[in-house]
Amino acid sequence: MTTTAHHTGAGVRRAADAPPLITSADLPPARHFVDGAFLDGAPERLIDVVDPSTEEVIARVPEGTAEDIDRAVAAAVAGKDRWARLVPRERSEVLHAVADRLAGHTDLLARLESANTGKPLAVSRDDVGMTIDTFRFMAGAVRASTSMAAGDYAEHHLSVILREPLGVIGVITPWNYPLLMAAWKLAPVLAAGNTLVIKPSEQTPLTTLKFAELVADLLPPGVLNVVNGHGAVAGARLAEHPDVNMIALTGSVASGRAVARAAAGSLKRVHLELGGKAPVVIFPDADPAAAASALRVAGFWNAGQECGAACRVLVHESIAGEFVERLVGEVRTLAVGEPRAGEDIEVGPMVSRAHFDRVTGFLERAKAEGVRVAAGGGALEGPGFFVAPTVLVDVPEGAEAAREEIFGPVITVETFTEEEEAVRRANDVPLGLSASVWTENARRAHAVAARLDFGTVWVNSHLVLASEVPWGGFKGSGYGRDLSVYALDDYTRTKHVMHNHER
Ligand code: NAD
Repeated sequence: MTTTAHHTGAGVRRAADAPPLITSADLPPARHFVDGAFLDGAPERLIDVVDPSTEEVIARVPEGTAEDIDRAVAAAVAGKDRWARLVPRERSEVLHAVADRLAGHTDLLARLESANTGKPLAVSRDDVGMTIDTFRFMAGAVRASTSMAAGDYAEHHLSVILREPLGVIGVITPWNYPLLMAAWKLAPVLAAGNTLVIKPSEQTPLTTLKFAELVADLLPPGVLNVVNGHGAVAGARLAEHPDVNMIALTGSVASGRAVARAAAGSLKRVHLELGGKAPVVIFPDADPAAAASALRVAGFWNAGQECGAACRVLVHESIAGEFVERLVGEVRTLAVGEPRAGEDIEVGPMVSRAHFDRVTGFLERAKAEGVRVAAGGGALEGPGFFVAPTVLVDVPEGAEAAREEIFGPVITVETFTEEEEAVRRANDVPLGLSASVWTENARRAHAVAARLDFGTVWVNSHLVLASEVPWGGFKGSGYGRDLSVYALDDYTRTKHVMHNHER
């Protein structure tokens, strides 16, 4: 492996003279959205919503209580029969109308998302585009459901399988893709005929509230409810609530455990999309230039705050030198900055001070352990929670940086000698969300993909998604699927009706 000098990158591009991303007129009502209206309650405790690229407070939302959740669940219960009775075509038309409404506000939604997360506008626009496509896909898929054939499977008895909505779904979303992760739940939940209460991340509620504002007139009251608040209070009440039939969370492993425990009391269904630590296994016959340029995107998209990020490279020792040189070359040219600083910005800040401290803590400990920094390696100047795009090399097997989800702009590089060893080490993490294999050998591509314990395996690619194909993990990454018809199935129940027709 080559030795490359320490380099913290070109710094953070600022936009002192550019107009603000949003004005107060762009903000959604800073309230809960329950039973078709934004609630004006008594003065409540408020949560600061911060722009992580400037550290300025851009809004304050009420801190939801257990009573706020109870009120929203009651509205969802009251609205469920009417929504469930609609035939698929009718719900499909509503979902298409939602998609059209969002499409008419793409720029606003992207600017709001960037203001609240610090992510580059190109990333926010991509999020909004995928959000719209998720609604369109689910609007189509719900009209084309398939199942086993009705027929006589026991003598003189006709079996018919019904697919029914579950009722009320609780949805809890993270801060990394606030609108998109909401859409991955909302679109199939609504298409399948359920009503819902969503609690967005306390750090990033703005696009979820804007979504509610934009589509309020398209959905009957009670079908969509939004309650702001912290996980330990509002989230915990939603997970335990006896009238919630299923709880769906995208978040950390710790939150997944808490939600599953809270759900156990009522034995409600649980749907968990948790963390990832995606291995990228590069064999000697792979193209190192293609892999390095793909990892420029797949490792640093959304500043690496991405559960499928290509963050843990296992490269064959024979091409490790060339690969690292190319990867470092790619990473050093990444444009880091505020979203306002230009259309070409590729990497924004960490979402919060706490997350910035967590990511830089991993880097400090890695350096103390003797891991070598080939690019980046630490914080960039503030204001804002910026971390330099980083490549760590000579990472020993089992090192913390290569096992734990850092969730920042950090790629670790380890080397291997044998295929068997590569598979064993790739699987040797508690998470199982996604992985990639890089080889020109078809036998190896299939054999290795089949043995990798991850819910998505890319071959000669990484982080490419489509609404038609499922997303979700194994092991510590949780269970249940987002996107695709599998997500639609997850939010329904099958009922067997058997008719005795013997004369
Ligand atoms: P987080 O777990 O801190 O928060 C996620 C949500 O859970 C928030 O709304 C939070 O308020 C809520 N929450 C926290 N504790 C809770 C509790 N006890 N009960 C109920 N709700 C609770 O996660 P985060 O920091 O917002 O997001 C980052 C994590 O999300 C990462 O681990 C990442 O890998 C994961 N993620 C996974 C996917 C996926 O598709 N698998 C996608 C995006 C993010």
